[in-house]
Amino acid sequence: MDQPGTEFPGLESARKVLRTVFGYDDFRGAQAEIIVEMINGRNALVLMPTGGGKSLCYQIPALLRDGVGIVISPLIALMQDQVDALRAAGVRAGFINSSLSAEDYQQVMRALRSGELDLLYLAPERLSQPGTLELLSSLRIALFAIDEAHCVSQWGHDFRADYLSLNVLHQRFPHVPRIALTATADAATREEIINRLELHDARHFVTGFDRPNIQYRITQKRNPRVQLLDFLRREHNGDAGIVYCLSRKKTEETAFWLEQQGFTALPYHAGLSAAERLRNQQRFLREDGVIVVATIAFGMGIDKPDVRFIVHLDLPKSIESYYQETGRAGRDGEPATAWMVYGLQDVIKLRQMMDDSQGGEHFKRLERIRLDAMLGLCEITSCRRQALRQYFGEEAPDQCGNCDACLNPAPTWDGTLAAQKALSCVYRTGQRFGVAYLIEVLSGLESERVLQNGHTHLSTFGIGRDIDKSQWQSVYRQLVARGYMGVDHNGFGGLYLTSKARPVLKGEEAIRLREDVQEVSSRTSKTSRADVGMLPEDRRLFESLRICRKKLAEQYDVPPYVIFHDATLLDMVHLRPLNAQQLLSVNGVGQGKLSKYGEEFLRIINEHELDLV
Ligand code: ADP
Ligand code: ZN
Repeated sequence: MDQPGTEFPGLESARKVLRTVFGYDDFRGAQAEIIVEMINGRNALVLMPTGGGKSLCYQIPALLRDGVGIVISPLIALMQDQVDALRAAGVRAGFINSSLSAEDYQQVMRALRSGELDLLYLAPERLSQPGTLELLSSLRIALFAIDEAHCVSQWGHDFRADYLSLNVLHQRFPHVPRIALTATADAATREEIINRLELHDARHFVTGFDRPNIQYRITQKRNPRVQLLDFLRREHNGDAGIVYCLSRKKTEETAFWLEQQGFTALPYHAGLSAAERLRNQQRFLREDGVIVVATIAFGMGIDKPDVRFIVHLDLPKSIESYYQETGRAGRDGEPATAWMVYGLQDVIKLRQMMDDSQGGEHFKRLERIRLDAMLGLCEITSCRRQALRQYFGEEAPDQCGNCDACLNPAPTWDGTLAAQKALSCVYRTGQRFGVAYLIEVLSGLESERVLQNGHTHLSTFGIGRDIDKSQWQSVYRQLVARGYMGVDHNGFGGLYLTSKARPVLKGEEAIRLREDVQEVSSRTSKTSRADVGMLPEDRRLFESLRICRKKLAEQYDVPPYVIFHDATLLDMVHLRPLNAQQLLSVNGVGQGKLSKYGEEFLRIINEHELDLV
């Protein structure tokens, strides 16, 4: 029992649930505060990055308050997994959505009516169906959790019309506390969430957007396939990850090619049949070490905690997308890599796509600003994490120690003269040629087309012989990325000067450019803690535990991580628990999982210990 007058009523009981049910030692970040807020019947708005631990913020209060906690979530495909994970921990949970059979539906209803559920996941469209509100009115409700709350925003990409009617919850159940959660919300979206969901009195919890276990790396595109292969072989052999590409065709080609190289790789994009998409997603969730090569259509609500890497083979359109996509790595807190290759062609392609898009001028302007911020992130020579955090309005130290800029700083050089040559070559040739041509002129190449255009007579012909072709590409890429030049609409990538170019040409502005260096891998083998300096006998035990987990996962028909995360297995390897009591001290083992799976794992650890003596 809590002592009367403690500062945070309910905190002690919450901590107890955290330990006994979920098997974790301590709350993370603002979890404790949020949970106390809910337990005491108040509303909350939670902004936390993906993997930050939002679920516990409503799950624990739902267990501690009288009645059932109702979770509104648009991610129907995930409900089964979420409920499975809760049941594995011994929590009485269920869901209602369109995928439920009539029989299962009846069973959930029975459990609800007899007060046997602690948590019920509900698809938003259910609320507008006849009978649902009446049903809810007849129940004792602990709280409402509105997950992915940004879906209420009509300006966002994930807008769901059903979310607009969620204000009915406040109107019909004014005394039930509500919590709205999201990982993506700028100030405007936040306002919209508050207004539409009538959360004016809710306390806001905006918690750290930093994901320290993710290593951010952005490198120049040379030969993307070779670079990718090298990255995977060196650092992520056998790991699960996502590779993002811009086009459907490229996802299929890349997946096929990775398969030929011996990886398990599956394509995923909106053009595949629903059945095939589901199958590939299921394999990604349930098998070890599957790579999904996807367009952005893949990812929202993918709850797999052990995604070890995110690769971008094409440039995302904004920092928001980049951050959301990379945020799918390392939700379990173990080391993960966000690795991207990008080049001049990406910049040209995206600039053109935006100019040609259907949206109004205002929309296009916003898109351009977002793309420029993304390009800025690619070209900076200072800490990437600092730039990311500052973009989301957070303070951050100059050095994070876990991004390419910190680990392997790119040298810079005085590119003023080179920039002047590059820009004036654009000007002299009439502001309509692409980079390949401009480099021919600068290098003094008497190619057929240069001769044909009579450009051998230009003052810029051959003034760039001191620099090689790849370096000129780098100069142009950086100048375009920083907005000194724009890209033509005609589809040929012709460059023209912007007003920013003037001061450079007149010698009023100096320019420092980054020197493109070949990426040196900062890690020799895998990232995951599992492989770093593990003794052979530990390795053997870890593998046995994984096999045991796989067997149980098949038996219970759930993904392996629903049984235990890798981090929990690693903890077992380090602590070597030999009885139930000791097993409970392992991070991620609560009472529920102990009684369900404990015996099997203990048997393996004991056998292993016997082998050693
Ligand atoms: P989100 O919904 O914010 O993306 P989740 O709620 O799925 O994140 O949590 C991410 C992961 O972190 C989950 O695997 C969860 O079990 C784990 N986790 C959450 N809170 C804690 C904690 N206090 N201690 C240890 N692990 C936690
Ligand atoms: Zn850094």
